[in-house]
This record gives sequence, structure tokens and C-alpha cells, in this order.
Amino acid sequence: MKEELNELSKVEQLARQLEPDQKVLRQWSESVLQYGLSFVDELDSSGAYQAHDGSTLHFDDIQEGRGNIDQVIQELKDKVDSIGINPASGGHLGYIPGGGLYPAALGDYLAAVTNRYAGIFYANPGAVSMENDMIKWTAEQMGYPSNCGGNLCSGGSIANLIAITTARDKMNIEGERVRDAVVYMTQQVHHCIHKALRIAGLGNTIWRNIPLDASFRMDVERLEKQIQVDRQAGLNPFLVVGSAGTTDVGAVDPLEDLARICSASGCWFHVDGAYGAAFRLLEDKAELFSGMELSDSMVIDPHKGFFLPYGLGIVLVKDKLAMAKSHAYQANYMQDAMNDSDLDFSPADLSPELTKHFRGLRMWMSLKLLGSTALKAGIREKHLLAKYFWHSIQGIGFEVGPEPALSVVTYRYPFEESANEMNLELMKYVLADGHNFISSTTIEEEVWLRLAVLSFRTHRDRIDHLMDTLRKGVENLRSR
Ligand SMILES: *Cc1c(COP(=O)(O)O)cnc(C)c1O
Repeated sequence: MKEELNELSKVEQLARQLEPDQKVLRQWSESVLQYGLSFVDELDSSGAYQAHDGSTLHFDDIQEGRGNIDQVIQELKDKVDSIGINPASGGHLGYIPGGGLYPAALGDYLAAVTNRYAGIFYANPGAVSMENDMIKWTAEQMGYPSNCGGNLCSGGSIANLIAITTARDKMNIEGERVRDAVVYMTQQVHHCIHKALRIAGLGNTIWRNIPLDASFRMDVERLEKQIQVDRQAGLNPFLVVGSAGTTDVGAVDPLEDLARICSASGCWFHVDGAYGAAFRLLEDKAELFSGMELSDSMVIDPHKGFFLPYGLGIVLVKDKLAMAKSHAYQANYMQDAMNDSDLDFSPADLSPELTKHFRGLRMWMSLKLLGSTALKAGIREKHLLAKYFWHSIQGIGFEVGPEPALSVVTYRYPFEESANEMNLELMKYVLADGHNFISSTTIEEEVWLRLAVLSFRTHRDRIDHLMDTLRKGVENLRSR
């Protein structure tokens, strides 16, 4: 025993190095804080994109002893924060940006320092109640009942997976019933829906891509007809996936019609609003989203439309019990944590996760410190900026897609020859400039450039700068 005690005391000394004293903690924290604050301060001038040669980045080896905070931060700066897309920049106007509200970083910091357990009510009633408040707040904004089921998960992909898994079980799609089951969506649905269907064991169900109307919305009559035809053929229509803001062009499906058809045909109605649902906070957009509140489940990504940093998606499911039936678990070692009341579920009962990051704190801190008025103004500003761009870019000779319902604009320059290649060249010109980042898409074999305004840091000066770069790019390409 003596030998063991000797070893124990030696090991303890080493292990205690995991608990640096206050002086060291302060020094590390101050360096991190300094870096974070200058990063934010320099965002206006630091650009939104820096190309890289495609090679893997190599980080210095992990040392046996303690590292130096300044060297660590320098490596992060050089190898991570200076390359690729800068999603914190207001110049990020491609894919779907978001930005990353600063108070969320403080929330993440405190969540990690205090390490509160937000998976189970018993472990931390406060953390779970706060998360439930965030779900309730979001539900109210979406027109959902405040007692609906919900979960704060990592993003839209997992949020959609949770909803689809719940729909699968509630609709009894298992065994022999898989092959006859039919899912209705459009070709504009986000690919994470296909992924979720496959992960949920629904890869062998029948998938119908309902044609789009001229505004890239699901054609309601075609949907109604297809469901009828499928029923007559002895198949089992069970799920309709509507989009509240497609990623590609920002179109909102006619949700009220979809809700009516689902109700008449007994289908589960799911709405993917990962990108667009945040715009429902705007009073004059309520009509556009009308019918979303009638869905059985829906998804919204606060790391997009609520401007939070990456790592927060929300799923809402009206039938909380169904959500729990698909995700709840029981294990003997968890017996102390079981709830008395069946309907008082913990996050772990409503998602694939058990131990999880306390995501509610980042959202709560952001809403508490910044307020809902600023949030709504930010969302409104993004919509107005997209409309401003849509109007102005036509003035310098560009073709445009539909007037933006939300904040995505598709546009292209009508070059006389090789318009597809030339528009891609134009995009490269913008990326080489680097102040702004834009992306492209292909619609019916035509290359279109895409503007997606959704960073809280994007204001009119950015959009003007982009239009200036595009104008110069066109001149440059035409004079070649
Ligand atoms: C971004 C997006 C998703 C995927 O969400 P992640 O948070 O990236 O996992 C799903 N649907 C739509 C419409 C989206 O825009």
C-alpha cells in the first residue's frame, strides 16, 4: 500500500496541473479575450474570403507539458482564422450566413466553465427549464402552441432527423409498410431531408418530387393529384415535406394549401424552415408563412436567421408524446433521473443525445442582452437589403430571378457568349477581391449567382461594395 500511496502522491502532483492557478487562468483568458475582441474589431477590414491551395494544414505536435497561450492563438490565427470563408464577416453573402452574435460566445464560455448538465431535468432543473423557455419563445414566434415538444440540437440536419423519425413512428412506417410508404417533397428540398430519411431507415420508401410552379414553390394541384393516384394504386402516402424558405432561391411553399391537403389525406406535415422561418417574426411576412402553424413538425435554425454562431437548430413537434416515444430510453443507471410525470420530458427524451452542450445559454444570453427589437430589425434589414440589391443590380444590366420573398437573390449577367462560364468567372473575380463572398447555383442548366443576406453584420455599404465589384468584374471580363 505504501508504494501505491507514493505513486498516488506523485501522480496527484502531475494531475493537478489540469487545474492551473488563478494567475495562469487569468493570463490565458485575457489573451483569448484580447484576440476575440480584436477579431470582432477588425471584421470590417478583414474580408470575407481568402483562397487556399487545397493542401492539408499541419498543426504543431501536442507537447507533453504546458503550452504557451500566445503561440497557441497565433497558430489558430494563421492556420484557421485567416483562410477560407469568414462566416463572422458581414461580407459573407454566399450559401446561408448567420454571423455569430457576440453574447452567444459569452454564453458558450459560461456553459463550458460551469459545465451544467442540460440533458436531464433532475441533473439541472434550471438549465433544462431555460432551454424549454427558449423552445417556448420560439414556438410562440412560429405560431405553434407553447406546450409543443421541442429540442435544441446542433443544427437543421439533426432537427429534421428528429422530426422525420417521429413522423415515421407515429405513422407506423416499419417492416413491410416501408416499401409502400410515400414521401412528397420537391427537388428544391434541402439534401439533409434525403439524408434524414435514409438514416431513419426510410431510404426504401417512395419519394415523389412534386413539380414546382414558376416561383419555385410546390405545385399544389400536382401534389393533390399525386396523392390520389398513389392511394388508388394501393400505396400509403404518409409524409409531406414543405420548405419555408428553400436554401437555393428562398422560396416558401404554399403552406396553407399543403396543410389542408395533409389534413384531408392523413399525411404528416413537416416544414423545413431552417433558413426561412426566422422571417416569420416580421409582421408583414405572417401571411407568407400562413399554414406553417398547422404543420405537425417544423425546424428553424437559430444559427442562421437568429444570427447565432454555428451549433444551434430547433425542432418543434406538436405531438410531444410521439416525439418522446421515438427518442426516450430507460437504463437502470438512470433510475434516479426518471420523471414522475409522463409529459414532463427532458431533452434526452426528445433527441438522440444524452450528455449534451448547454445550448440554451447562448440563445438566452443573446436574447437577454440584445433584446428582441434589435433581432427583428436585423431580420427586416436583411430582407430590405436583398430587395435593394434585386432592384439595383438590374440597373447595371443584370438579369434577376424572382423578387426575393426573404433574403436570397439569384442573378446573372447576360454575357453574349458562354454565359455560364462567364458568370462563374465573374464569381471568381469577386472571390479574388475577397472583401465579399458569394456563391452560385444551377437552375435548369443555367448558372446563376446567388446573394444570401443573413449576417447581422451586413449593411447597405457591403451591398454597394459588392455591386461595385460586380460592375468592375463585368467590365474586366468583357474587355478580355
Ligand atoms: C441550412 C439548411 C438545412 C441544414 O441545416 P444545418 O444547420 O446546416 O444542419 C436544412 N434545411 C434548410 C432549408 C437549410 O437552409
